[in-house]
Amino acid sequence: ATEEGAPATVPVGGVENLVIIGSGPAGYTAAIYAARANLKPVMFEGYQVGGVPGGQLMTTTEVENFPGFPDGITGPDLMDRMRKQAERWGAELKTEDVEFIDVKSRPFTVRSSEREVKCHSIIIATGATAKRLGLPREHEFWSRGISACAICDGASPIFKGQELAVVGGGDTATEETLYLTKYARHVHLLVQRDKLRASKAMQDRVFNNPNVTVHFNTEAIDVIDNKGQMSGLKLRDLKIGEEKTLQVRGLFYGIGHRPNSQLLDGQVELDEAGYVLVKPGSTDTSVEGVYAAGDLQDHEWRQAITAAGSGCMAALSVERYLASNN
Ligand code: FAD
Repeated sequence: ATEEGAPATVPVGGVENLVIIGSGPAGYTAAIYAARANLKPVMFEGYQVGGVPGGQLMTTTEVENFPGFPDGITGPDLMDRMRKQAERWGAELKTEDVEFIDVKSRPFTVRSSEREVKCHSIIIATGATAKRLGLPREHEFWSRGISACAICDGASPIFKGQELAVVGGGDTATEETLYLTKYARHVHLLVQRDKLRASKAMQDRVFNNPNVTVHFNTEAIDVIDNKGQMSGLKLRDLKIGEEKTLQVRGLFYGIGHRPNSQLLDGQVELDEAGYVLVKPGSTDTSVEGVYAAGDLQDHEWRQAITAAGSGCMAALSVERYLASNN
């Protein structure tokens, strides 16, 4: 444990060493590493997702691909364990949303409705939110038939060997579709427009796969409920305006994610979609001393383990940054 023997860096003059914003796998991992390095991090957990801290995994049931849990673990249980581990090492947890940050002058400022904190460094790990369609029964079937992550849920017993549908027309939707063909009996790709927006290579792979049917000019309008289980979807043909049904046992959203970066607008550099730009192979943002970890800066991998990995990188970077500025 390289970080454990580090000298204690106690906050001086009312300025904290490190503030961590966000309590998903990235935030808690950063908190564990920073607390073990005696940085006494202050963490704003936030409660926007589901009204509780813990991030996106609080909205799921089984997590089967996080190493160390051969029998799987529920999302809330995994996040509770990460939280306890961060607390055990002395991270100061505040279950508050951050409403404002200023990284243009030093020390930096982080403000919630309850308090204002001055700090020398910040790790931002506010995650991303999967876009939803807003179907009338979506809430009821979320994680019980509707998912926004094929890699996470495709192999789950409720979807394995079944007919499934994917909504979307870009690279995310085509990737989800092809991934699901490994497990599903057949996958229906529901595309609102009359063509796909995905790359030519992805389109070819979709059209050449006998286990995929592409439905153009089609939108999903609701889930068909059979005694609490999804038995199909109500669809609308957008060309002729007619409604029809499709018998599927699962629906995957491939309509993209929205990074939770509103707070950072004008403070650090973002890309066109709002993801924080980090220097390749690092968690460094455009402002020295400010780091971004997890889904907030990752539109490609979006997994708990990759988020945790970048949280670790961010904490180790903070340690080096503070040491070189002391
Ligand atoms: P998030 O988990 O998104 O957490 C962000 C945190 O920031 C939240 O706590 C939020 O409240 C907080 N926050 C936001 N704004 C503020 C603010 N202003 N102030 C303070 N806090 C704020 N991945 C897997 O590896 N395996 C799976 O099985 C799996 N299943 C999934 C199932 C579902 C339904 C979903 C949606 C995702 C799943 N994922 C899975 C993906 C995984 O959840 C994410 O990749 C991971 O949670 C990203 O972690 P993160 O730390 O970047 O952010």
